[in-house]
Amino acid sequence: MVYGPFYATACRVLETRKVLFRDGELSYDYLVLATGAETTHFGHDQWRAWAATLKTIEDGVEMRRRIHFAFEQAEREPAQEERKSLLTFVIGGGGSTSVELASALADLSGQVMRKDFRSIRLRDAQNPAC
Ligand SMILES: Cc1cc2nc3c(=O)[nH]c(=O)nc-3n(C[C@H](O)[C@H](O)[C@H](O)COP(=O)(O)OP(=O)(O)OC[C@H]3O[C@@H](n4cnc5c(N)ncnc54)[C@H](O)[C@@H]3O)c2cc1C
Repeated sequence: MVYGPFYATACRVLETRKVLFRDGELSYDYLVLATGAETTHFGHDQWRAWAATLKTIEDGVEMRRRIHFAFEQAEREPAQEERKSLLTFVIGGGGSTSVELASALADLSGQVMRKDFRSIRLRDAQNPAC
């Protein structure tokens, strides 16, 4: 018999074929553990302080906030070099999510934000991959 789905955080798996939850337990014959993965920085833990991650909706909202904030800062920045630096987005990784993000950034800077900013030339926004 297959149970589920139900929503609870598994805390421990016992050798007696039981999964413990915060508020209960469940016996099983066969157990499939598929808890997903966390963002890895591939040995570059120093990136953690700077790099926005993209695993959850909250991550997406935070990334969007940072991008908009960078554009708004660039709009008010008189020094061209500093403005260029504010409009340089680095995407770490070259998987499908990174490619999607690069294309979304290009759309955002080239199309969506075009009417919102007067001082900056949106074609100056660049996103080198690393
Ligand atoms: C932004 C983004 C875009 C993507 N786009 C695509 C795409 O277009 N095409 C594609 O094929 N793939 C895409 N992927 C990759 C795809 O989402 C993952 O490869 C896939 O979701 C992995 O599946 P999974 O079941 O291993 O893990 P997950 O989908 O991460 O599922 C793991 C589940 O386990 C739960 N869990 C963790 N710990 C516990 C616990 N202790 N107790 C109970 N539950 C727990 C988590 O809450 C989660 O629901 C994308 C990923 C991201 C981040």
